[in-house]
Amino acid sequence: MVVIPIYNLLLVPDANIYLKADQYRHLARRYAEVNDRVVLLSCKKEQHRKDMTEDSFFPIGVTGFVNEVNPEGYVVIRTTGRVNLDIVGINPDHTIELTVSRCEEIEDLEEGVEQAHFERLKANLKENWEGFEWGQQAMGYLEQFHSISEIAVAMSIWFKMSAAEKYDILAQDSHKKRLEMLEKAVYEFMEVSKVTTKAASAQQEDYQKIYKESAIKKQMELLQRELDEMHPEKVSDIRKFELKIEESGMNETAKTEALKVLGRLKQETNGGTEAGMLYDYLDFVTGLNWKKEQMQEIDLEEAEKVLEEDHFGLKKVKQRIIQQIAVMNLKKEQAGSILLFVGAPGTGKTSIGQSIAKALHRKYVRVSLGGVRDEADIRGHRRTYIGAMPGRIMDGIKKSGVSNPVMVLDEVDKLGVSYNGDPASALLEVLDPEQNNTFTDHYMNVPYDLSDIMFICTANSVDTIPEPLLNRMEVIRFNGYTASDKFQIARRHLLPKSMKAMGITEEQLVISDDIIRVIIDNYTMESGVRGLRKRLDTLCRSAAVEVSKKLGAAAVSAAKASAANAAAASAAKAAAEAGAGEASGQIPAQAPAQLQGPEPIVVKEENLREMLDAKPIRHDHVLAEKKPGIVTGLAWTAAGGEILFIETLFTKGSGKFTVTGQLGDVMKESVQIAVSLVKSMFPDQASLFEENDLHIHVPEGAVPKDGPSAGITMTTALASLVSGKMVAPTMAMTGEVSLRGVVTPIGGLPEKLMAASRAGIQTVFIPKENEDDLDEVPEEVKEKLTIVPVGDVKEVLEKTGIL
Ligand code: ADP
Repeated sequence: MVVIPIYNLLLVPDANIYLKADQYRHLARRYAEVNDRVVLLSCKKEQHRKDMTEDSFFPIGVTGFVNEVNPEGYVVIRTTGRVNLDIVGINPDHTIELTVSRCEEIEDLEEGVEQAHFERLKANLKENWEGFEWGQQAMGYLEQFHSISEIAVAMSIWFKMSAAEKYDILAQDSHKKRLEMLEKAVYEFMEVSKVTTKAASAQQEDYQKIYKESAIKKQMELLQRELDEMHPEKVSDIRKFELKIEESGMNETAKTEALKVLGRLKQETNGGTEAGMLYDYLDFVTGLNWKKEQMQEIDLEEAEKVLEEDHFGLKKVKQRIIQQIAVMNLKKEQAGSILLFVGAPGTGKTSIGQSIAKALHRKYVRVSLGGVRDEADIRGHRRTYIGAMPGRIMDGIKKSGVSNPVMVLDEVDKLGVSYNGDPASALLEVLDPEQNNTFTDHYMNVPYDLSDIMFICTANSVDTIPEPLLNRMEVIRFNGYTASDKFQIARRHLLPKSMKAMGITEEQLVISDDIIRVIIDNYTMESGVRGLRKRLDTLCRSAAVEVSKKLGAAAVSAAKASAANAAAASAAKAAAEAGAGEASGQIPAQAPAQLQGPEPIVVKEENLREMLDAKPIRHDHVLAEKKPGIVTGLAWTAAGGEILFIETLFTKGSGKFTVTGQLGDVMKESVQIAVSLVKSMFPDQASLFEENDLHIHVPEGAVPKDGPSAGITMTTALASLVSGKMVAPTMAMTGEVSLRGVVTPIGGLPEKLMAASRAGIQTVFIPKENEDDLDEVPEEVKEKLTIVPVGDVKEVLEKTGIL
């Protein structure tokens, strides 16, 4: 006989007990076999087998036999009767030994009563289960039960009854009472589950409310997705962003942030300001290209050709750029060192940046930094700020559409500083290869890799660029163009471009070389060619009117001629003349084929003033008048070089001195040095300075930094004034002076010498130490000038004839 202890199941005769096969094996200590005779013991509490004692069981158990060993792993035990456990023994191996005797049964149930009760209970259960989804399934099982005992035993595991209460049913000798108890247990269970179901459904309603929205949204999303697939052209914004975020190749941080913002956008009701902001953000970050571009080997010869094609001259600049490209090729770098192009406006700094991009087969983007005073302009505003925007760097990258553009940062010398932070230090971060691979724009709030961008900065002068920024860059100077450079640039590049822009062909307009030279000499005053380009544009625009009038006339004449169908030549001529008056001023789309083009328009010098709508520029030219105390200097201005006249005058007075002109303050020290030097060199005339007031006028124009380079000019002017000896107006000079009278070097020599030659100067004194810079001065300029390097003031005074 197999003894099986059971906990928490109702044990009564005439029912089926289902045990898993291995559970049976564990409890019975043997494999189940059909017809095994068993005694099931009702345990008082849940216990490990090894902890069980004689006292662990209620005193009545149930006998039965294994009715079925199910292939799915179940053992079905059919219970038969109740037994008293007379003696219970636990062996050392924890097997249980029993001596049992039959229990007394009180068979007080009348015939058919049990069946009637059973049918009623079944009906009740059916009624109760109908409302539930699982009811259908449960009702199938119900049909398999044949008695209330079977139903009760099957459900007993869920009964809210203690083990003792369950045992009470088993302990009942009266069949009638036992049936009542079983019925009661089932009905109670039914009621309890009804209440819990109600509670559950109430709770469910709450949940429903909470989750309904999200469920609907999810469903909408699914539907939307399906719609999107059907109509890709109508893909909704949210979906579009989802796709873009997936496809953009963003780094993980950026993706997380973008998805977070997208989540917030989904929550937003239509049209809120917040929604707009979130939309803009997503539009921006998903519009950026996050993917690394492959490094491309650059063909140096081809690159050279591109640079040569687009720009005339600039030999050294081009050479330097080719070197940079070669290094980038060798090091397999996309960024290279940061170049700073310094030169006057219109010297081609920006446009050569564009050519570099073309030579490298990369995208070009220009970011203007002129007048930027806020850090936020570089690094963006935080998104908490209303109207927040990304900074100019990220904006430029977005415009370029790639992660490795050639980015020209224009006018880095015009960065300002305000209470809103220092843009230069933000720029430093952009350019620093150590940190720019994780540059974080405040607006984006996630890092972006700038390390593949080739940065090129431009500036008119390096004076105002903060030292740390300047240190990061390699300066390449654009010295400005000579008149003949300008001529070539105009001929080869500017004029063809202007004519094309105005829709004029070479057959229609003739501009002679001389005309170009006159425009360069008389209508522009600059180191670069920006003004020249504007003049040529104006010229072509004026010419366009003439050209179109002529074409209009010719077109009308052709129309009339063909209408008259081979009319007399004189009549055709008359028609053309009549038509000229009615010309609409528009160029016909296509001149009639049979017509000979009208004569081209030839620009004449006498028409220039009208066509350019400008007066010729009066350059500061060599002075006609000679007077002691006036000397010609050379200055470096933002537009390149210029000559200037330093004028000095003694007036009756008591030794005061006045400096006028824009650079008055900067010049004061130079004036003091000049006065002391002159006093020491002309001791006899030193008293002049005590007896008179000295007035020095320095005309405006030069950049402040260049102020001291007028030192030598000022000293010579004063020497001329006290000695009464004049300096030839065809002589000019530039150089700082020290108290010892040494002439020290200056900047911008090429520009200054170009200005001198332009102005008709013949002799120029330059500091000896600047002699090396003469390599940078075009031959054409050097040929025109007598350049005299000088070491000290005395030499200058001797060579100008003062001493
Ligand atoms: P910058 O940036 O130095 O102020 P830009 O690059 O704007 O000057 O140049 C002004 C114009 O002059 C542009 O149209 C440019 O193409 C033209 N240009 C300047 N230098 C040259 C050159 N050496 N050859 C051909 N065109 C030039």
